[in-house]
Amino acid sequence: MKVLVATRETQGFDRGDYSHTVEGELVVATVAECDAAGCGCDRGFPGLASHRATTTAQVVDLDISSADFREAIRGSLDDQGWLRWLDEREADELVDEHVSTVAFICGHYAVGTVLRRRGTRIWCEPLAA
Ligand SMILES: [Zn+2]
Repeated sequence: MKVLVATRETQGFDRGDYSHTVEGELVVATVAECDAAGCGCDRGFPGLASHRATTTAQVVDLDISSADFREAIRGSLDDQGWLRWLDEREADELVDEHVSTVAFICGHYAVGTVLRRRGTRIWCEPLAA
């Protein structure tokens, strides 16, 4: 299935780029953003394994079942403490939101596309000349 992974491709195209993830790890696009000016969390794709973020994510076709993808998201959110105060239904809804956001984004871009985000806006890098 198509998912998003951390990539360093096109890092540096934007002056404020950062990449604290592990290359190729699964990332999501749903983020609890702070309101600190210049923080950069509004531009990041959080990594499920590293719990760090990157400003560049790539659409890939990975050999992972939707159930395993869902479990990867749930496990990461749980490890980071996001599920601590939620009941089962609320936790499922939060995981659903992450899964459906990734599916929505991947449904609009071809495999290999490098994406960026700012808030709820997602776009791909212009192709190099
Ligand atoms: Zn922030």
